[in-house]
Amino acid sequence: MPAGLDEKLEPVYQHVLRRNPGETEFHQAVREVLESLGPVLVKYPEFAEQKIIERICEPERQIIFRVPWQDDRGQVQINRAFRVEFNSALGPYKGGMRFHPSVYLGIIKFLGFEQIFKNALTGLPIGGGKGGSDFDPKGKSDSEIMRFCQSLMTELYRHIGEYTDVPAGDIGVGQREIGYLFGQYKRITNRYESGVFTGKGLDWGGSCARTEATGYGTIFFVQEMLKARGQSLDGKTCVVSGSGNVAVYAIEKAMALGARVIACSDSDGVIVDQDGIDLDLLKQIKEVERRRISAYAQERPGVSYLEDGNIWTVPCDVALPCATQNELTGKDAETLVKQGCIAVAEGANMPTTPEGIRFFLEAGIAYGPGKAVNAGGVATSALEMQQNASRDSWSFEYTEQRLREIMINIHRTCYETSAEFGVPGNYVVGANIAGFVKAARAMVALGLI
Ligand code: NDP
Repeated sequence: MPAGLDEKLEPVYQHVLRRNPGETEFHQAVREVLESLGPVLVKYPEFAEQKIIERICEPERQIIFRVPWQDDRGQVQINRAFRVEFNSALGPYKGGMRFHPSVYLGIIKFLGFEQIFKNALTGLPIGGGKGGSDFDPKGKSDSEIMRFCQSLMTELYRHIGEYTDVPAGDIGVGQREIGYLFGQYKRITNRYESGVFTGKGLDWGGSCARTEATGYGTIFFVQEMLKARGQSLDGKTCVVSGSGNVAVYAIEKAMALGARVIACSDSDGVIVDQDGIDLDLLKQIKEVERRRISAYAQERPGVSYLEDGNIWTVPCDVALPCATQNELTGKDAETLVKQGCIAVAEGANMPTTPEGIRFFLEAGIAYGPGKAVNAGGVATSALEMQQNASRDSWSFEYTEQRLREIMINIHRTCYETSAEFGVPGNYVVGANIAGFVKAARAMVALGLI
């Protein structure tokens, strides 16, 4: 059963359900935020008067378009793409593009909605947006990926810009795709507008540490959560779901801080390596060869591969969901806690179901929600925009230090806000309220727009 909503907020949520039928992930993301906001309306009655919550649940602009392209056999293929420009009270819309067959409007709206509060938490001047397509990059040749990206950008270019809307990567969109998208934008507009895209390659306007940022930032947040409980990552056993960009760099930083990471996964299965994951091998398989995670078990003796396995059955101290939404259920939460897990931090967006979240909070373990934990990615994207605007390029060490400070600040803000609202250590409440209040204040200040 879902937790109750404040009586002023229940009708708002019912209205969202009616206006956005079938968009279950969006409903889930809205409800999770609204459940935290009851006390905020008592403290800030002007937000209710100005209908800020109703306004923030309605995207400023939604773009849906056809992407026709030709595959290597010369066949015409049609995909659908989206860009949801959710809220620009704090800065240009900012959020990644996702390429995955499961993408539809409800997924992009949930991600765009979360992005408003996450971006506000970074303290940097960025609004919230998200985009993507139901295109499946798996098994496609480089030429097919390029043709698809060029076709998508041939429509998207008119909606984005360094002061308007600044996309980046997400599931299925890494540096290769960003290169093709940015290249087509440059070609159509005849402008080398570096700040229109983040996650670029280091040779063409990218920032050091952006590739690592979401994974590293996740681990910096874990460090802070553990520190607040008098513990550290040193010697802890971790499991990390996924084996994409966020997972790989979460594993790298966790290991650098003395943790033993023993399991990761992809959508086909799970590998368990009790000796600790061999990061070079993992990167070779996932980043260079783009193979499945099962290849890791083939290459390394003694590693078990669980086809269709559930990674949350692997006992650990720290669990890091870094793959996709709703990948960790109430039952998984119960299993993790029963087997001794003391901390969960979401590298992915909304990976834990509402039942799972409730279980973690009631069990009193350290639980960090995605909008706080994985904010290091977008924060470093904003640092990339800063470097582009000043035609500058910072060192890896300096950029990583800025990221670390931002994550420490986000943790502090969430913790202090949770304490202010009477639930110290509840990072869900802390992140939702702190992110919301910042965006809401700006919306009030900017008038009815
Ligand atoms: P990648 O595409 O690099 O990797 C995604 C990983 O998750 C892959 O291992 C993939 O396995 C797995 N995965 C994806 N979809 C599913 C699914 N439906 N079921 C099971 N496994 C799945 O993406 P990222 O690492 O960039 O993103 C991972 C998560 O982190 C997402 O939730 C994203 O929104 C979030 N995030 C990413 C940021 C970034 O900077 N990249 C910033 C903030 C959040 P397979 O290859 O089999 O599909």
